[in-house]
Amino acid sequence: MCDGPDDSRYGDRSRRRDFLGTMGVAAALGLVGGSLFTRYARADALTHAQRDKMTPEQIIEIMKQGNERFRRGERKNRNYLREQKASAKGQYPAAVLLSCIDSRAPAEVIMDLGIGDIFNCRVAGNIENEDILGSMEFACKLAGAKVVLVMGHTACGAIKGAIDNAQLGNLTGLLAKIKPAVQATDYTGERSASNYAFVDAVARKNVEMTMADIRKDSQVLAELEANGGIRITGAMYNLQTGAVGFLG
Ligand SMILES: [Zn+2]
Repeated sequence: MCDGPDDSRYGDRSRRRDFLGTMGVAAALGLVGGSLFTRYARADALTHAQRDKMTPEQIIEIMKQGNERFRRGERKNRNYLREQKASAKGQYPAAVLLSCIDSRAPAEVIMDLGIGDIFNCRVAGNIENEDILGSMEFACKLAGAKVVLVMGHTACGAIKGAIDNAQLGNLTGLLAKIKPAVQATDYTGERSASNYAFVDAVARKNVEMTMADIRKDSQVLAELEANGGIRITGAMYNLQTGAVGFLG
């Protein structure tokens, strides 16, 4: 976080390429050959100019395409050392994600993203709080990210814990922040943690409520969204299929 958008020391800008690869934004948006691009283009860190000319919708589309590559067992011709060197003196991430700590849902991996592409907030049950909101406000207002993505996932242990009223140290308080989603989930079958359909319905409701909480509790982000500078959206990651399903 020390390197912000005003960092003027990045003298190697010309060598930096975005996570769209050498063929740039047009390629990632499907304007030039898809499979050729995904197999052979080299991906380096996102540059200031490249990030700034993308719209929130384009960034979301890039994340969707990255997840499709992941599901096909493909990934960009990525070199982490090149990305590390390219981003060392400044960062221009396109999005800030809020996702669960679950070890099976690493956002950069499942959407084929690299170093410098996204800010990544992770907390069990992907709930928001003042510190998460502060991080998101930094990411969007100061560092220029254009998408806030809340990503839940199927078979989430935190959601199960909230349904089961699990009690453990500081975890009790965290799960209390998920419980409103348990209550608010409209579901006619068995409302238990052993019913995965219910668990996943609560997880989706929790994403929706977290998005609403972000808008309600962060005037900074709500204003950015109202002005069209950012888009706040949600997604569910399916552990079984590997698919990230965007909610809208
Ligand atoms: Zn989880």
